[in-house]
Amino acid sequence: MINNDFKMPIIMIGHSFKYEIEATLKLFFHTARYSFSDDITAADGDSFVVAQVDKDEDIRVSVKIKTDGGEVRDSEYVLPADCESKDIEYTLCRLIYGLLSEITGITPPWGLLTGIRPVKKVIDLMRRGMMEEEICSALGEKYLVSPEKLKIAYETAVNQLPILDRIDRKAVSLYVSIPFCPTRCSYCSFVSHSMDSAIKLMPDYINALCRELKIIGDLVKETDTKIDTIYFGGGTPTSISADDLRMIMQTVQDNFDLDNVREYSVEAGRPDTITEEKLRVIKEYGADRISVNPQTLNDDVLKVIGRKHSGEDALRAFELARKVGFDNINTDLIAGLPTEQFDSFRNTLDKMIELSPESITVHTLTIKRSATLFEKGSENAANPAAEMVRYSVDALMDNGYLPYYMYRQKNTVDNLENVGYAKKGFESYYNIFIMDETQTILGAGCAASTKLVYPDNKIVRIHNYKFPYEYIRSFDKLMEKKGEIRECLLKIRSSQPK
Ligand code: SF4
Repeated sequence: MINNDFKMPIIMIGHSFKYEIEATLKLFFHTARYSFSDDITAADGDSFVVAQVDKDEDIRVSVKIKTDGGEVRDSEYVLPADCESKDIEYTLCRLIYGLLSEITGITPPWGLLTGIRPVKKVIDLMRRGMMEEEICSALGEKYLVSPEKLKIAYETAVNQLPILDRIDRKAVSLYVSIPFCPTRCSYCSFVSHSMDSAIKLMPDYINALCRELKIIGDLVKETDTKIDTIYFGGGTPTSISADDLRMIMQTVQDNFDLDNVREYSVEAGRPDTITEEKLRVIKEYGADRISVNPQTLNDDVLKVIGRKHSGEDALRAFELARKVGFDNINTDLIAGLPTEQFDSFRNTLDKMIELSPESITVHTLTIKRSATLFEKGSENAANPAAEMVRYSVDALMDNGYLPYYMYRQKNTVDNLENVGYAKKGFESYYNIFIMDETQTILGAGCAASTKLVYPDNKIVRIHNYKFPYEYIRSFDKLMEKKGEIRECLLKIRSSQPK
């Protein structure tokens, strides 16, 4: 990701493909200030883009680019007169991508694919009966995705498809949000509140969360809906006390029929919050999958990102979870953390593989505007994230971990991806469902979202308040918005034979 803070006028002649053109330019110049016009006289400064479409007997698509006072580069392509508007749009973007790759020496590995779910495109083509080679050449030609990324996207789709085919669309998943962490990591872009600032609100928060779980539980019972998966996320759910955790898990048990639950996950997360007592509570209430997330085992890097635990603490937390009896543990790592070098990432990954968790998720650092790190601008100048990600694909697949879900985010170092790998049979359903958008997810707690997927695939989202005090104070108002859950669950129930 290059941060270039300059003005870049974009002159669009004969079309209005603003969104995709800007997205393509942002792959190369992330923080340039773009302006749009159809005034060709604006193409006279140090930097500009002219993207032009001339329609005659055929369609001539041309691009001229100048950056930072360099020479003007141009390129053009001729399309048949009857081509579709999307073809013209992608041709323009491919020309821009080609010229900027020449100018900057950068070739973003996902090409023009800027969406967060690249695997969905692969699965769509698989369902149309296309084979690997056809899929890769179709996506490679249209979006300029590199062969390396096509391969991992295809492998992920192959492992995900059988799980998607068994999805129970009549059932729903439950998400429980505990948005607190012991301290805030410098790269954090989640809605997470440090325990110090939230401690006074805790009793009221737990109380409101349990009330919401009861309300959702009543709706689920009333509409005779099955719960398929449960996910406790945050924040760090284990940052609250064992007693509070017990109270929430007891409320889930009292208000939902857990007999049909296929997966119950708790994202324990930060090793410094994991105690034997909390792990025993999690186990007692039937959660069968937990995450222990070191991110890195390098103590210096942990300090830089604002974590208060060491690599050794992470290993101890993992062993403790094994001792308590968890046989499905995920560990999260991040490629591209500030100051982390390739060798240190490799050591962490190799050590985690040695520990043999059932799944390992490799994220790439994302810096959103809400993160402290974004304000400080302390990203690695030459971040080795791409090398780390490449190593992780080979090392994990060589050791029996298969990629099974993938998503991309904006503002990720080098526009890279996040990939979940699992040993066969340990793929997380919830992680797949949240990306696939075919199963309804009911969210409880501050910052949780409810995603209602109607039988005709219409999706309605209900967002809970982001901050605990708002969630507590405006609880009744929020619950009025939940009426739609009943309507959706009734429609789901009546749409399918019993
Ligand atoms: S553990 Fe996760 S949610 Fe908590 S502060 Fe760190 S990045 Fe944010």
